[in-house]
Parts: sequence; structure tokens; C-alpha cells
Amino acid sequence: MTDKNLYNTIIIGSGPAGLTAALYAARAELKPLVIAGLKPGGQLMDTTEVENYPGFVNGILGPELMDNMTKQAGRFGAEIKQENVESADFGKQPFVIKTDKAEYQTKTVIIATGADANWLNLPSEQKLRGKGVSACATCDGFFFKGKDLVVAGGGDSAMEEATFLTKFATSVTIVHRRPEFRASKIMLKRAQDNPKIKFITDATIIEVLGENLVEGLKIKDNSSGQETVLPVQGLFVAIGHTPAAKIFAQAGIEIDQKGYVAVKNNTRTNIDGVFVAGDVQDHRYRQAVSAAGMGCMAALDVEKYLAEHE
Ligand code: NAP
Repeated sequence: MTDKNLYNTIIIGSGPAGLTAALYAARAELKPLVIAGLKPGGQLMDTTEVENYPGFVNGILGPELMDNMTKQAGRFGAEIKQENVESADFGKQPFVIKTDKAEYQTKTVIIATGADANWLNLPSEQKLRGKGVSACATCDGFFFKGKDLVVAGGGDSAMEEATFLTKFATSVTIVHRRPEFRASKIMLKRAQDNPKIKFITDATIIEVLGENLVEGLKIKDNSSGQETVLPVQGLFVAIGHTPAAKIFAQAGIEIDQKGYVAVKNNTRTNIDGVFVAGDVQDHRYRQAVSAAGMGCMAALDVEKYLAEHE
């Protein structure tokens, strides 16, 4: 940093993309600031065993992996603050990032804010979140031993969550809004072959029943309009994710048709000096290792950009 208050780079987000970017930027002696968010670590904090992150023969727990990544970036001097970004000004150099606690100036930014789970947006669903309604089977499945459950959705996540939940639940019913599934054939078949999994298609969940705990779901057949009640004790919502891109859209960052940050050239966005990595720009792969890979790329691109501009 030339000026004490001016960072070379600020990395927004602390999942695999952000922390890998931080590791590379710190080792390049850029003294990066990571604004980690109020719930640091990203989506892997909500998982148990991660079996497909290379280098861990027997797998590793998601929170442990993120803790390791945080310590590894910190070891090389990355500064990590548990603050939430509220706005960004990319109008002129230096860029200004405002959080709930402070205001920072920086020459470059790496957006690595990830994506958040989508909800059905029913008032009864929101009321019972954490009381039988969840968006993370790996986090909460354990609490549903011997219960009857519903998984909402028709994509790979719904198949994966339902299959996982059969470890604990007596039965899992996948309720999907269309007759056809978006899920890949292999994941769908695995769910179809599982004797504990049932399917209700072409149906909409219209209400989650229960006062303090889930006691059932009211669903409507989309063709006949007929309403029925499923007596279940849990609802897992697996209907995709929304990238955390809103603040950046407001700051002039171009967003693609699906709502993700548009990538221009490797890790560049439409604004010179603003880079992106991880799930906030990726609706296709959404893997920890692909996010980490792009975090590395973004830090290398920042290093090159700074060298060219100084
Ligand atoms: P997705 O593929 O976008 O599927 C979302 C599902 O939720 C769709 O079936 C969709 O229905 C349904 N849905 C969306 N909004 C809804 C609403 N308001 N009410 C009811 N249903 C709604 O999302 P995903 O399953 O999370 O997967 C995302 C990406 O990650 C995919 O590329 C997937 O292949 C990948 N993934 C891979 C794995 C794996 O390989 N192990 C595991 C999980 C995810 P419609 O079909 O009618 O639109």
C-alpha cells in the first residue's frame, strides 16, 4: 500500500474463491483485505463431509476446510475482517467499499460473494425456518431421524438432498412443480431406485402446516387444482441459488441474464480493476474446487493489472 488507507486489493467474500484469492494476493505481497461477511466461510460452512476437494484422501469437514483456508491466507498476511459490504463505488479510482463498520479505499476489487439458497417464499415456510424447514440437508438431516420428509425441487440438488436424507428419514417425498425433471439422469435414477424416496410431480407446495414445528404440507395438484395434506415433519427446499450480486449491480457491474456477474475476459468484469471469482459468476459448475481455481486466477489477474498500472 502506498497510502495507509489505500489497499491494493479488497476481496469481498470468504468462501473458497475469496480465500484462495487472498492466499495468492498475500503471497504476492499485495497485503489484501478480505471482507468476510457476517457469516464467513460461505456455503461449505453448511456442509459436513467434503469428499471431492482434491488432496484429502478421506475427505474433510466443510467448516474445517474453510478454517484451514482462512489460516493459510492469514499466515501470509491477508487481513480478514468480519464485516458486511453495504455498498460499493466503482465510479472512479480509488474504489470505495462501505461496510456496516467502516469505509475502505482500494485500487482493485475481487468480487467473491457466492450465492444464497432460494426459498419458496411462503409466509408459513419463513415462520418455520429452523423449526423443520431447512435449505441444507447435510447441516440439518441428522435432526430428522425416523421422520417423514419432503424435498422441494426437481434439479440435481433436490435428488442429492433427498438421497442423503434417506440415511436418517423413514421416507422422503420429492415434490416438483413440473412433470419433467431438470436433474441429470444419473442423479434422478439414483433417487428413483431408492426405496425410501417417493415422487409427487406437477404439484405446488402452498402452505407449511404447524405452529412451532412442521406438522404437514398442503400441496396443490397443478392440473386438477385438488389440494391434499402430506403429514410430514420436515421440508427441505432445494430449488437453486441466487448469486449475491445485487450491491455490485447497483455499482454498475454488468449482470448476465441469469442474475450472475458477467465475466468479460478471464476474471474481469465490465469495470476495469474489478474482478470476479466463484459462485457469484458461476451457474454451471458451482464446485468448491472450481471456485478456488478461479480465486487463484483473479488474484493473478489483479497482480498483473497492478503491475501494468503502476
Ligand atoms: P437447478 O438445476 O436450477 O434446479 C432448481 C429446481 O428447483 C428446478 O427443478 C426448478 O423447477 C425448481 N424450482 C425453482 N424455483 C422454484 C420455485 N419457486 N418453486 C418450486 N420449484 C422451483 O438448481 P440445483 O438443483 O440447485 O442445481 C444447480 C446446479 O448445480 C446444476 O448445474 C446442478 O447440476 C449442479 N449440482 C450438481 C450436483 C452434483 O453433480 N453432485 C449436485 C447439486 C447441484 P423447474 O425445473 O420447473 O425450473
